[in-house]
Amino acid sequence: MEGENGMFKQAKWNEPLIFKLGRKGRKGHILPKVEDEVKRAVGDVNALIPENMRRISQLRLPELSEVEVTRHFMRLSQMNYGVDSGLYPLGSCTMKYNPKINEFLANLPTIGMLHPYQNESTVQGILEILYRLERWLTEITGTYEICLQPAAGAHGEFLGTLLMRAYHKLNGECKKRNEVIVPDSAHGTNPASAAMAGFNAVVVPSDENGCVDLEALKAAVSERTAGLMLTNPNTLGIFEENIEEIAKIVHETGGLLYYDGANLNPILGKARPGDMGFDIVHINIHKTFSTPHGGGGPGAGPVGVSEELTKFLPVPRIVFDGERYRLDYDRPYSIGKIRSFYGNVAVLLKAYAYILSLGGEGLKEVAEVSVLNANYLMKKLKEIEGLTLPYISEKPRKHECVFSAKPLKNETGVSALNIAKRLLDYGLHAPTIYFPLIVDEALMIEPTETFEKEELDRFVEAMRKICEEAYTNPEAILQAPHNTSVSRLDEVKASHPRTMALSWRMYLKKNGQNL
Ligand SMILES: *Cc1c(COP(=O)(O)O)cnc(C)c1O
Repeated sequence: MEGENGMFKQAKWNEPLIFKLGRKGRKGHILPKVEDEVKRAVGDVNALIPENMRRISQLRLPELSEVEVTRHFMRLSQMNYGVDSGLYPLGSCTMKYNPKINEFLANLPTIGMLHPYQNESTVQGILEILYRLERWLTEITGTYEICLQPAAGAHGEFLGTLLMRAYHKLNGECKKRNEVIVPDSAHGTNPASAAMAGFNAVVVPSDENGCVDLEALKAAVSERTAGLMLTNPNTLGIFEENIEEIAKIVHETGGLLYYDGANLNPILGKARPGDMGFDIVHINIHKTFSTPHGGGGPGAGPVGVSEELTKFLPVPRIVFDGERYRLDYDRPYSIGKIRSFYGNVAVLLKAYAYILSLGGEGLKEVAEVSVLNANYLMKKLKEIEGLTLPYISEKPRKHECVFSAKPLKNETGVSALNIAKRLLDYGLHAPTIYFPLIVDEALMIEPTETFEKEELDRFVEAMRKICEEAYTNPEAILQAPHNTSVSRLDEVKASHPRTMALSWRMYLKKNGQNL
């Protein structure tokens, strides 16, 4: 493209599927033949496997040499982008760089080879780690006890709303209290989780400061209120200053306060949801505590509760009798299990290592630098023509800031989506767009603490150039991206199961073949 010299260019390999690369008989490793030895030792191995579990047909796996496999995945990785490639300012997602040492620790065979059915006496080490992690997370959130089981934020929300239900049920108010209040700035999972637990979601609007409208909240609460789900700082990056008043309003009507802790990063070591009056808190381990996420990989969404609610937590609970760790199933009020075994242990171990390596002071610094970075970006981006910062623009933000590209769209036709696509041409990941829903043409930007000032400056510069280009040459932006391995996708087709082949089996089926 003209005028694009010196710009980022992503690799563009014409890389076939690994199934098409394979050639019969190629091998990665030639393993020594052990069959004879095994036969001598234990007899016919096949006879040891129950008949209905024996493989009858050959697996149709691609056959390749080691170097072919390495090159294949190296090429694919070059056509990709992640937190290890550069800035990933996806608002509300906290896409931070995750220290490799934590991956290394989670990969140690002493962790990876553990089996959840092992006898308690043989897993004292990991139980101690999980127990200590629970204590640290209760300290960080200001809660009384924490359950590590949930596998994601939304899963934690679901557990949280089930706990609300159990609490009201014990009080004989389960039928009456069938409403959960959520602000209009909430993450979509909040009303969805409430609905899954059988509640009706009642939406309250935000005021002109971007906070919960207190009058609207007072009007919404009633004896039907089971609880309020709140994100603080909220998805605009604004801290709800009236949180104590909000807690009072909800508690006075007999409701519970649920804290969506996906945005915990900016208040680590600074403020605690428990102290703000929240009864139930979930944490997104995979956002705040060093687990890469995106693409649906394993995560963890532990849920902390006030003392009053601990008896409802899922079983088993890890208890320590002063000498040994034990799994306690004897909890008559427990809602049961929310996930198999004890949660995603490898993810939890990374959080343990992360907290241990940073310490209390380090966690505070995480919060401070993440807020500093977000406000630095906000200040610089405010100077760009075409963008506005809705909701009192003088007020500092916490971890993220939400801009509107509405002026730019009205004047040039270039939308938030187009800006996001064009950013990719600069070798930068786009921010979250069109969320929260209360901001038109929203660009939700969260830089996190893990990117250097130079990287933030590069982002600001790219945004400035794109907005200038919108006024002079909007066509280039409307067709973007040009420099990536995949050019502009049809948004609808790209997320429709009928157009996608997500596995080799699906691919063959689309072409009229079977595996
Ligand atoms: C990410 C996020 C969630 C959901 O977390 P998952 O782990 O993706 O289920 C909930 N609320 C907010 C504010 C979030 O940013």
